[in-house]
Amino acid sequence: MRDANPQTVYLKDYTVPEYLIHEVDLKFNLDDECTQVTAKLKISRNPESSHQSEALTLHGEKLELISVLLNGEALSKDDYQQTPTALIIHQVPQKQAFEVIIENHINPKANTALEGLYLSKSMLCTQCEAEGFRKITYFLDRPDVMSRFTTTLIGDKSRYPVLLSNGNKIAQGELLENDHWVTWEDPFAKPCYLFALVAGQLDCVADRFTTMSGRNIDLQIFVENHDLDKCAHAMQALKNAMLWDEQVYGREYDLDLYMIVAVGHFNMGAMENKGLNVFNTKFVLARPDTATDSDYEHIEGVIGHEYFHNWTGNRITCRDWFQLSLKEGFTVFRDQEFTGDRTSKAVKRIEDVNMLRTRQFAEDAGPMAHPIRPDAYIEINNFYTLTVYEKGAEVVRMLHTLLGAEGFRKGSDLYFQRHDGQAVTCDDFVNAMQDANGVDLTEFRRWYAQAGTPLVNVSPQYDEASQTLHLTISQTSPPTPGQPVKEPLPIPLRLGLLYSDGSIAPCQLKEQSASKNETVLQLTEKEQQFIFTGLKEKPVISILRGFSSPVKLTMERSQDELAFLLRHDCDTFNRWEAGQQLSSRIILNLIEDWRDGRELKIEPVIVDAFQQVLEQSWEDLSYFSLLLNLPSEIYLAEQMQVIDPEGIHYAREKVILTLAEQLQKRFLELYQLYHKDESGQFDSGAIGRRRIKNACLAYLSVLNTPEIQSLSLAQFKSAKNMTDQMAALSVIVNNEHPGKLQCLTDFYQQWQNEALVIDKWFALQASSPMPETFDTVTGLLDHPAFDMKNPNRVRSLVGAFSQANPLHFHASNGQGYRFLGDRIIELNTLNPQVASRMLSALTQWRRFDETRQQLMKDQLERIMTTDAISPDVYEVASKSLA
Ligand code: ZN
Repeated sequence: MRDANPQTVYLKDYTVPEYLIHEVDLKFNLDDECTQVTAKLKISRNPESSHQSEALTLHGEKLELISVLLNGEALSKDDYQQTPTALIIHQVPQKQAFEVIIENHINPKANTALEGLYLSKSMLCTQCEAEGFRKITYFLDRPDVMSRFTTTLIGDKSRYPVLLSNGNKIAQGELLENDHWVTWEDPFAKPCYLFALVAGQLDCVADRFTTMSGRNIDLQIFVENHDLDKCAHAMQALKNAMLWDEQVYGREYDLDLYMIVAVGHFNMGAMENKGLNVFNTKFVLARPDTATDSDYEHIEGVIGHEYFHNWTGNRITCRDWFQLSLKEGFTVFRDQEFTGDRTSKAVKRIEDVNMLRTRQFAEDAGPMAHPIRPDAYIEINNFYTLTVYEKGAEVVRMLHTLLGAEGFRKGSDLYFQRHDGQAVTCDDFVNAMQDANGVDLTEFRRWYAQAGTPLVNVSPQYDEASQTLHLTISQTSPPTPGQPVKEPLPIPLRLGLLYSDGSIAPCQLKEQSASKNETVLQLTEKEQQFIFTGLKEKPVISILRGFSSPVKLTMERSQDELAFLLRHDCDTFNRWEAGQQLSSRIILNLIEDWRDGRELKIEPVIVDAFQQVLEQSWEDLSYFSLLLNLPSEIYLAEQMQVIDPEGIHYAREKVILTLAEQLQKRFLELYQLYHKDESGQFDSGAIGRRRIKNACLAYLSVLNTPEIQSLSLAQFKSAKNMTDQMAALSVIVNNEHPGKLQCLTDFYQQWQNEALVIDKWFALQASSPMPETFDTVTGLLDHPAFDMKNPNRVRSLVGAFSQANPLHFHASNGQGYRFLGDRIIELNTLNPQVASRMLSALTQWRRFDETRQQLMKDQLERIMTTDAISPDVYEVASKSLA
């Protein structure tokens, strides 16, 4: 239930809390349908608050209130007022601290929103970020109220043999009638969004880590018994992350125990609750035969992410939710670097930029565009976005580029030293970076306040007589909702120059004495000139190396120049990028031919470029495989004025077919060279071989020859690792393979007891370009394994169809949109957070032709008329239509 008009919260309205809660003593009498919560709160007026009222207002939602005591005295109904979102105690002591004891009941089983305390299969668990604690008990549910928590869990010994909460276990005992209890104490004051409890029938894998100062930390991963054999990788990842944070940031773990629990029902990836992380099973469980190489990588990344939050998020937290990027942007940057160090820096950077440019750029250009530090929201859950996370990480990365690794470390040291134990703002973070390095970051702060992706244009001019290169570089930022006019941003542009024989040309700016192999230009104005001297011939420019800032860069250049960079650029990112630009250009031209009914002719330059890549020998095979990937349909769509989903698909397919036809010999050679049984091996060599081999198989499969069909079938049948099995099944499902139905059935039979593998089975069918897909997807809704109450399952069917299958989702008769509209209306009541995320596929309606625009808008308007529309769905739908 919500107010008729959902309220907007503004950053400018921030005021310090009127009251502080110093200590919380929680007692849970656990029951799946009626859990009794008793909260004893030590409260006092905040001396920094200028507020005058004598009332105390606590947040609370969907709570059944039983009793309220103030300093030991029971309050009557006249002493307080209950609203759907609050408990107001009319009069509390103003001069001294006081104690409030509240008892209430909650129903975890009825909680399908998965926020607060809920039931996942046989496990009770919590999710409190951002504002879920108020669904457990009445509280000051805001991150700048930090309290010391003691938690006692009481429950039936057989039903809930394991009882976990934050901190250290300080006492336990037995009670009558098969009950037992455990008390946990967290010595660190924390905001309530970091509270967690878990209770149920869980098994545990244990290990140990010795910190740099010699302290022994117990590490425990809790899972269902069935999954005990899938925890080894997550455990190793945790130890890797702990070591990395010591080595790179000098940060050590603080409690004696670190617990991770894997749950099957979870709205997001994982949650960094103090000492007790709760994870989506997807980011914990892995065994070579059930998880792909990319699953392995993501698990290590998310384990790292949540671990790193212990310093960037928990020890130092956010003052308010507008500052979310303070912890998320920084922590994503940290996990990106961790994964880069653990795997391949080049590959990780490309993967991250790919995601940023396809998803975040679209968000930044759409109706929900917001700065990494938003200034208003209706529902904070809607602001756990690619912008706050991924663009936030890019902004931190730019600081790293500007200050250098050492300067950045000085800044982070100062940040930890200054703010340990506090709830702070993005400004505090930038201040620490600034003060530690003696630089002025005033203009840099605009990155926190301005939305939209800046457009940077570079126009080069070489003067033969003076042997100089003039670069005129300009920037503009497009208007976004609420921000019609923008100021220029400081943009670091990493740049190198090459001579025509492929050698490095000197980078010598006119005002600098020494020449370098590479330089970082600082663009700060709307337009600037940079002059490079001492260039004996016109150089080829390699700019925005490593994607040094989150911008869209344009510069006129020939296809030959791109092919040259693909061959010679020593920057791994730009080398790959040159190939992407070359392919994009060719595909975008073909789309026009397709639209105008011309024959699709493939320019030989792209075949030559691929051939050249295929014939070199590569040390990093994963990187090699990325060079063989064409830009995705979604990335191509990003680059079109009016998106044509069919044109994109068929033009891209035509290029793939041409490459496969002309280079099949080499593809087959490479396939056979690298097709080995290396199941269970997860070193970069084995992973790279699998990536190359499967990339080649994907090309070969579009030829639809009986030989290749039997190759993929053989790989499917003999695969002992999920990477190979899934790669084979994908090409079988996505092409005209006679064994398709049988393989899908066999796969289901083989894996029906592994939920995460069945998710892959749903997602694969939902993202197939084959003509039967829409019918398959609607049919799968009725499959016994489909469950609207499980977010992973919803994402694997509804999410994959609407976000990873542009061809069919955007069917011009509108059936894809109607399908999604139906699902969102269903999800609105079950799980508003997931409903609102699914809605993102409709928010981009302005990017399509008039017919599709109307059909998409129809669904948004229909969703707006939903009874009891949640604030989550309301905010996204209404802002999309505005
Ligand atoms: Zn995070």
